[in-house]
Amino acid sequence: MNQDKKRRANGNSRPKKKKRYSRRQILFNRLLVLVVFLALVFGVVKGVRWALVKLDIIDTPSVFESEVIVKDNKETELQDTNDEEKTAKTANVEEQAEPAAEEEYTGIDLENASDPYYEAQTPMLVGPNNPIPSDFVPNLVDIYGGYKFDKKAVKALNDMMEAAKKDGVSLYVLSAYRSFESQTRLFTQKVDEYVGYGNDKETAVVYASKWVAKPGTSEHGTGLAVDLNSLEESFDQTAAYKWLQAHCAEYGFIMRYPKDKTDITKINYEPWHYRYVGSNHAKIIMEKGITLEEYLA
Ligand SMILES: [Zn+2]
Repeated sequence: MNQDKKRRANGNSRPKKKKRYSRRQILFNRLLVLVVFLALVFGVVKGVRWALVKLDIIDTPSVFESEVIVKDNKETELQDTNDEEKTAKTANVEEQAEPAAEEEYTGIDLENASDPYYEAQTPMLVGPNNPIPSDFVPNLVDIYGGYKFDKKAVKALNDMMEAAKKDGVSLYVLSAYRSFESQTRLFTQKVDEYVGYGNDKETAVVYASKWVAKPGTSEHGTGLAVDLNSLEESFDQTAAYKWLQAHCAEYGFIMRYPKDKTDITKINYEPWHYRYVGSNHAKIIMEKGITLEEYLA
């Protein structure tokens, strides 16, 4: 008490000011500084480790390594560091193998879900012995050149043509949807042509139907078929044909009338005629080199 009185008398106000910070407050402030400092150090260490892992300078954070070692084989802890490293490495391989298997699994589903050319429906078979059902109404949209194509499959056609273009190959449509009337006109023209060569009408019809489908039996009536680039057999010598052979199935198209399958299709070799069936069906048909008839049999 006396000392305090003396200080006050001397006009020394310092002890008074110091009293504003209690011991508790000082301790708290020091703790706060320590916590902030530790947090900073932890952050820097974490950051450096992350950077090292990212730059492939170290394999994986040692925390994971030790966890895996313990899980893998408890005896390893007693062995020397070389063995620990070995176990850590095999453990790493196992760790990498697991996500790969997961990717493979989800990949199958993703492929179908993300494939815009996937077709759940069985393709419709149209041919000389399989006329288009009388109640069939095609769902058509206009495409360039005044042609019409199936609304659902038009994206596949456009995408295929764009992909070809990117590969330096030009594809252009010579024929797409044909109405019953236009098919009748084409067929009549072809019959007249064979009559002109000196055939009787019956024979002319037989010959004509090898080249032009009888009305109601042409795939062009479905809106799902296109003739591309050239109506000559020599089309199969072009880069466009080779590109189509390699890629048409990716977009859900098949070459509908192969050379060695005319006895099955009853239609002459047409390397220019492509039919949309969906990529899942098309890939099997093109890979096996079979016809739609064989695929559906
Ligand atoms: Zn055609």
